[in-house]
Amino acid sequence: VAKGAGKNQWRRYQRHLHDEMVERLELRSALDHAVNEGHFLLHYQPIVDLVSGRAAGFEALVRWHHPARGVITPDQFIEVAEESGLIVPMGRWVLEEALRTVSEWRRVLPPGQAPYVTVNVSVRQFREAGFVDQVRNALQHTGVPARSLMLEITETLLMKDDEQRIWADLSTLREMGVRIAIDDFGTGYSSLGYLRQRPIDVVKIDKTFIDDMVTSPQPLALVSGIVSLARNLDLTVVAEGIEDEAHRDLLVQLGCPLGQGFLFSSPLGPTEVLAWMTRSEIAA
Ligand code: C2E
Ligand code: MG
Ligand code: MG
Ligand code: MG
Repeated sequence: VAKGAGKNQWRRYQRHLHDEMVERLELRSALDHAVNEGHFLLHYQPIVDLVSGRAAGFEALVRWHHPARGVITPDQFIEVAEESGLIVPMGRWVLEEALRTVSEWRRVLPPGQAPYVTVNVSVRQFREAGFVDQVRNALQHTGVPARSLMLEITETLLMKDDEQRIWADLSTLREMGVRIAIDDFGTGYSSLGYLRQRPIDVVKIDKTFIDDMVTSPQPLALVSGIVSLARNLDLTVVAEGIEDEAHRDLLVQLGCPLGQGFLFSSPLGPTEVLAWMTRSEIAA
């Protein structure tokens, strides 16, 4: 009996693996189609000055507009996009689209008032030869100054073997005037000392620490440590995933300048951004 049960379990397991594989293959081919057809859009989440409530910049976050399933968020497709390499053409579109949007903001807003845009870049994109040129060209033909663009790269993804080359490219981008942010900081293995002597401008503290800092001493110490080290190193800090007043108040107390999260706004459709800015100006 036991043997028979084992066999059934094994079969069920095999079927499960098979279904999962089929699902991934289907997702991959649908994604391939979406890249060719341009079925993506960007949403923009304000990065807010925690004291004044005004937006300093907006983070561009990709969405897949699936013809049958509607708008799909990246947690459901970024992994497959990375594995398949489709992240490369998708990321190229994201960069171009985000810069087109900033150039539009710059066209309609008074001089000096247009926010910057920050774009998430996968390590896979950095590995592709010519990424730096791609950024340079995109800035050139959209007419957006490098200062209005920030690139986000996640901390965990920098811990790879080709780290040195990536840092070299980041330095070049930075010399062009593009700003560099380390995303999801605190989730990797790097210590605070890691931030020293790196070509970076901004550290984004991962949401998990923001969630926990109000109730536990360890995440609080980490957040406070990042904020004070950043001040010494002349880096800017953005706290991610701020959902309530208690988080915001504590961060202000700690001296954290910037944050983003549902407390201020969820990611906005492209047509909602300017209206949101007007409302927050009036409130400020
Ligand atoms: P991320 O860069 O760390 O972006 C923050 C994510 O947290 C976004 O999810 C955002 O909608 C969400 N978020 C913002 N505020 C709050 C909050 O107060 N509470 C909660 N629970 N969540 C909040 P989203 O848009 O689903 O993106 C997920 C991840 O996908 C991003 O994490 C980023 O790593 C990746 N991603 C998004 N767009 C792109 C892209 O264009 N290229 C690449 N390579 N990755 C992207
Ligand atoms: Mg990000
Ligand atoms: Mg993040
Ligand atoms: Mg993330």
